[in-house]
Amino acid sequence: MFLYKKELVKFCHKVYENKFVAATDGNLSLRLPDGNILITPSGKNKGDVAIEDLIIISESGEKVNGTGKPSSENKIHLLIYQNRPDINAVVHCHPVYASVLSITKNLFELPVLPEVILTLGKVPLCEYGTPSTEELPNSMKPYVKKSNAFLLKNHGAVTTGKNIEEAYFRMEKLEHAAQILFTAFGGGKINTLTGSELEKLMAAAKDSYGIDIPFGYK
Ligand code: 13P
Ligand code: ZN
Repeated sequence: MFLYKKELVKFCHKVYENKFVAATDGNLSLRLPDGNILITPSGKNKGDVAIEDLIIISESGEKVNGTGKPSSENKIHLLIYQNRPDINAVVHCHPVYASVLSITKNLFELPVLPEVILTLGKVPLCEYGTPSTEELPNSMKPYVKKSNAFLLKNHGAVTTGKNIEEAYFRMEKLEHAAQILFTAFGGGKINTLTGSELEKLMAAAKDSYGIDIPFGYK
């Protein structure tokens, strides 16, 4: 168990050091040999995550061990583990260039870089879903059985792997490719959230994160 926890902590630190996340963004998990999931706590800086912060949940989402609250996006992780016996690790981040493509145009649809085609395939852009809610895993369902990398509209990215190193490398590759594609093609029209999407976001702010309605949105 210690080795699994050490490995997950190592990649938490890597996503923060590489600026794939800011502040308390992102979440990482891996599947343990007994089928339970080791996952990061909600609201913790990934650069500061320590072994004792990690939480164990069952494949159906019940807390098995740990003191904090499991990541608010645990439903994304569970969807992947439930649908992909070949996958044992999931990484969710908000890398700058991948997120730019998620709010403008999914340039991964263009067959441009052979190595990216071979390693990531045609990365899908999943429909917008309110963070922390079932909307996000639902938006990934059409692609979950086929893809190992996902852009989440107006949010960020998710990658998977047979182990945490592979899931992390896919995130690194995704962000690197997104930077190349954006630099080559530039941005397009920015997609903004609709009124009802904003309303649901404010509800999630209270319910999932315990935060007040932010300035300007009251
Ligand atoms: P957690 O801190 O709850 O894992 O959420 C971070 C995040 O990226 C939400 O989408
Ligand atoms: Zn997120």
